[in-house]
Amino acid sequence: MFSRCLLLTTPLLAVLCLPLNAQTNNPPAFDQCVAQLQSSALRQGISKAVVERDLAAVRYQNRVIELDRKQPEFSESFAVYFERRVTEDRVVRGRQLLAQHRTLLDRISREFGVPPQYLVAFWGLETNFGGYFGKMPVLDSLATLACDERRSEYFTGELINALKIIDEGSISAARMQGSWAGAMGHTQFMPSVFLRYALDYDGDGKRDLWGSLPDALASAANFLRGIGWQENERWGREVRLSKDFAYEQAGLQHSLPLKQWQTLGVRMTNGGNLPAVEMNASLLLPTGHEGPAFLVYDNFHVIMRWNRAEAYALAVGHLADRINGGGSLSRAPVPAPRLSREQVVALQQTLNDQGFAAGEADGVLGPGTRAAISRYQKASELIADGFISEEILRSLGVLTPSASAQ
Ligand code: CA
Repeated sequence: MFSRCLLLTTPLLAVLCLPLNAQTNNPPAFDQCVAQLQSSALRQGISKAVVERDLAAVRYQNRVIELDRKQPEFSESFAVYFERRVTEDRVVRGRQLLAQHRTLLDRISREFGVPPQYLVAFWGLETNFGGYFGKMPVLDSLATLACDERRSEYFTGELINALKIIDEGSISAARMQGSWAGAMGHTQFMPSVFLRYALDYDGDGKRDLWGSLPDALASAANFLRGIGWQENERWGREVRLSKDFAYEQAGLQHSLPLKQWQTLGVRMTNGGNLPAVEMNASLLLPTGHEGPAFLVYDNFHVIMRWNRAEAYALAVGHLADRINGGGSLSRAPVPAPRLSREQVVALQQTLNDQGFAAGEADGVLGPGTRAAISRYQKASELIADGFISEEILRSLGVLTPSASAQ
C-alpha cells in the first residue's frame, strides 16, 4: 500500500496522507481525481474508515464511459418499446407476485396511498421483478462518472450520497452493485433518492433495497407519495376519439378538464361517457390517430418524475392495469419505420428546408420533430397527429425502399 499526500485548502492548510491501492491500473488523472474526492468526502463527514477502505479502492471503469457516450444507432419506435416492456410473460408474473405478496402490498398501500399494482409494475419495469439489479460496482461507476468532464458535478454528489449509504451501515461496498449509472436495487434508486426515500420497512435496522423486498416496495411507495402521488386517482386510461377529432390537441402541453374532453368527443373505450369528476387531463397519441389514445391525469406526471419518458409512463400505467386484471389495449400501437440517426437528421433537415421548423438536426426524434411533422401534415391537409409514419417519410423523400416498419 502506497500513500498519497494531498495539500488541502482547508483553513488550517493541512497535509493529509491517504492510502492508495498499488494494484490498480487506473489512469493517473483518475487517481488524482479520486484523491481529491477522498478529501472532499472527509470534509463532508464520511467516515475515515469508508473513505480509506472503500473510496480508495475504486477502479476506473472504461465500460461506464463507453455506455455514457453511446448513442443508439436506430430510433426505437413506441410500438417496439411498449411491446418489449408490457409483455404477456411480465403480466402473468406480475399477477403471480401481486397474489404472493398481497398482505405486504396491501399494508404498504394503506400506509402510503399507492395501489399495489403500481408498485409491482415499477418493480417489473425496473428490474424484471428483482431479476436483474445490474452488476457494476456502484462506487466504481459513480467515481468514474464523477471524474469525467460530462456530468462531473451531478455524479460527485451521487458518489458522496453512495458513501453515506455505506457509512450508515445499510450495505457494504461489495454488495452495492447497480446499473452503469449508479441505479440500485429492486427499483433502481439513485443514491440521492435512496437517502431521501428508502425505508427500513422490515425493521432489521438496515435500508436494504437489494435483499429486502419489504424495504424495496415500501421505499418505492414512499418515493411515489413524496413526489406527489394522488391517492384514489388512476394514472390515466385508454380512450376512444370521435371521427372528426381535432388531433392538434394531443400532447402533454394541453391540459383540459375531463368535461371539456367529453365535449370534444373523447369517450371510454366501450363508448361510455368519461367520469363526471373535476379533473384535468392531457391526451396522448403515441402512434398517431390509428393507434391507441390515452387520457392521462396528475399521477402520470408523478410517474414521469420517476422517469421522464412518456413511453415509460404509459408502460407503467398499462402494465399496472394489466397486473390488476385489466385487458390489453383496444387498439395496438402502430408500427413505425426504424430510422437510423442519419435518416432522422435527413428528416429534420428536410422539414427545416421546407419551413416546418424541426429545430437543430441532431438525429434524435423528439417533441420538436413531431411538432414539425404535425405542421407539415396540416399544410398537406393530412391528419395532423405528428406520427412519423412510413407514408409521411416517403412523401418527404426520407425513406429508402429497403426500410421496413417495426
Ligand atoms: Ca430492512
